[in-house]
Amino acid sequence: MPIPTELVGSLPRPIKLQQAYQDLDDGKITFEDLQKLQDEAAADSIKRLEQTGETYVTDGEQRESSFATYPITDTLAGTGLADNLAGDGQYFAIFDDGHHRQLPRLTGGPFKYKTFAAEFVEKNKQIASKPVKQAVIAPSMLMLLYPLEGEIEGYSRDQFLDDLCDQVEKDIRQAFAAGAQRVSIDFTEGRLANKNDSRNPWTNNDMLQDFIDLNNRVIDRFSPEERKNIGIHTCPGGDNDSVHSKEVPYEKLLSKMFQLNAGYFLIQCASEEDKESVYQMVGQYSREDANGIPQVCFMGVINPLDPTVETPEQVRDQLVTAAKYIPVERLGATDDCGFSPFSRDEKPKHGSPDFARDVAMQKIANRVKGAQMASEELGV
Ligand SMILES: [Zn+2]
Repeated sequence: MPIPTELVGSLPRPIKLQQAYQDLDDGKITFEDLQKLQDEAAADSIKRLEQTGETYVTDGEQRESSFATYPITDTLAGTGLADNLAGDGQYFAIFDDGHHRQLPRLTGGPFKYKTFAAEFVEKNKQIASKPVKQAVIAPSMLMLLYPLEGEIEGYSRDQFLDDLCDQVEKDIRQAFAAGAQRVSIDFTEGRLANKNDSRNPWTNNDMLQDFIDLNNRVIDRFSPEERKNIGIHTCPGGDNDSVHSKEVPYEKLLSKMFQLNAGYFLIQCASEEDKESVYQMVGQYSREDANGIPQVCFMGVINPLDPTVETPEQVRDQLVTAAKYIPVERLGATDDCGFSPFSRDEKPKHGSPDFARDVAMQKIANRVKGAQMASEELGV
């Protein structure tokens, strides 16, 4: 079988759409007005992705406040925040360029999603002529909604985690039921868990194993057949063309991440200085048998934070080298991250989000071509 390809999920939102998110926060337009522009951008994303030759298409998260907050708020500023949440939660990340992103804070129970990703899948299925994928958020990210220390009166941490796992399971099941063929779980907090950043206390709490165990609580509710199509995405962040945890030694994460009983992984690698050591670790730690299924490793061969478009030949060469360490039947090609995980993203290195959108499509097309070339060279 040729080397499979898959994108992580997000694409830069057009400037017009980003402005509309702001206008909704400012009370200048209605949510219905915003949805019209989201639908337009989603349709454009799907049409253009189909032209790149990508196997699975998606709306590029045009309808989401962010990859992490879509279930609980309509905009990053907190318009349409779900019940039992306040705006002033933990940072989920402080990026290298100094900017940060903040989560809401849980104030009481029960915890419930107000939006499930199936809503997007249903709309996308009506437009797409190719199979649809959907990215969802990991319970390990949303567990940070609960204050790091102490307990919320009347709603224990354990009760919250039970409710959270139920909501994430429902999110994944409904996305499949709505017609998604693949569902990948965003796990950007994995590498960040070992950052030990004094400005961001949860990164000092050695939470990686807790994250993995919590995510497996959800993943293990699915059959082996279902888990083949449940993925995990890892990265050192990607927002405003900046990262949050690239300096954290990758082995701390890679030596544990494959404990997750997922069928495939979308793994940042193109932006690593020593790619070969990453291939080596992925080959070493990924499992041929994860409770009945093999773990397919999609290696990042495209850097969405860099406007320079990788050539198909560069993609091919990375994959051919990766195949020295990772069995080719368990090797795939992806991008290092989504192209814009947050709805407001200026893409400063690109100059503008509209230009970044064009660049993203060229990069994806070249990844698809490069994977074909590598498959030919490797005889698969
Ligand atoms: Zn990412």
